[in-house]
Amino acid sequence: MAKHQWFDELKKEITQGVVLMDEPLSKYTKTKLGGAADLLVIPETIEEMEYTVTYADRNNVPILLLGNGSNMVVRDGGVRGIVLHMAKLNAIRIAGTSVHAEAGAHIIDVSKKAAEAALTGLEFACGIPGSVGGAMAMNAGAYGGEIKDIIVQATVMDQTGKIFVLSKEELDLGYRHSIITDKGYYVLSADFELASGDKEAIDAKVADLTYQRESKQPLEYPSAGSVFKRPPGYFAGKLIQDSGLQGKGFGGAEVSTKHAGFIVNKDNATATDYIKTIEMVKREVKDRFDVELEMEVKIVGEE
Ligand code: FAD
Repeated sequence: MAKHQWFDELKKEITQGVVLMDEPLSKYTKTKLGGAADLLVIPETIEEMEYTVTYADRNNVPILLLGNGSNMVVRDGGVRGIVLHMAKLNAIRIAGTSVHAEAGAHIIDVSKKAAEAALTGLEFACGIPGSVGGAMAMNAGAYGGEIKDIIVQATVMDQTGKIFVLSKEELDLGYRHSIITDKGYYVLSADFELASGDKEAIDAKVADLTYQRESKQPLEYPSAGSVFKRPPGYFAGKLIQDSGLQGKGFGGAEVSTKHAGFIVNKDNATATDYIKTIEMVKREVKDRFDVELEMEVKIVGEE
């Protein structure tokens, strides 16, 4: 099969990073479910990333960019082609009030480092379990803050391996949207501009947001966070709660009893269980309130 050939050829060039065949993606996603990737490539350098992208382009191999897997549901049949995971490209550098972070860095770690340097502006991200690349792609946000508020520019690679910089305006950031996913660019790094702040006030804000998150979200179970976007004029969680769906689901997946916007993998759920639960929620909310819930979570891979 083609994947054996891709594996052998990529292994010859990716010598510092990792190339794995038939690697279960359940190990890399926050829902802890789903099938395997034909190939999982974890480059150690930008050159290895570039090699992988140009190899895929030359050989017509599809690429899926996997960040920290916190907003992604992989179907049980897994993903054909290459899953590119940037976990090893994770440097974070702070100079004055400017922060440069590589795409594989966890946005929680960037938020932590900013707080340590008494920089304010990234407190909102202290509990968002995504990578910098994923947070950029999704314009992640919480508690009144979002990536759009602090981003200066992002360095991206296109499907041919070309690297260029996109300004804040060019990134076209909106509610859980950016040009990154529209165009299929790969984020390599992001530059943020924060402000000098009072360390005690920053720590207090982080503690407050952490308390709010821990008390309201079912963090004890694997999940993909809020499954649906906020429909104009409503809250998805409230609609789901008012539809009486909490605790309901299929197999090991259920609508969280703690936060109705979350679907949790409560007991060895399959992706099929999880997706059937999503579909049930969409159907019930449409029937009851005539509101179409739009997905925030990305469903990828094959049945
Ligand atoms: P993934 O889930 O790996 O991928 C998501 C999308 O981004 C995919 O389309 C993927 O291809 C793309 N992507 C990832 N990396 C890159 C890259 N380098 N270049 C290009 N595209 C890329 N989100 C919020 O906004 N606010 C919250 O408060 C919040 N709370 C959460 C709480 C929990 C418990 C969980 C599980 C999730 C939560 N999320 C929240 C969702 C999620 O953490 C964010 O959407 C996050 O930004 C996704 O980042 P990721 O690296 O995990 O991306």
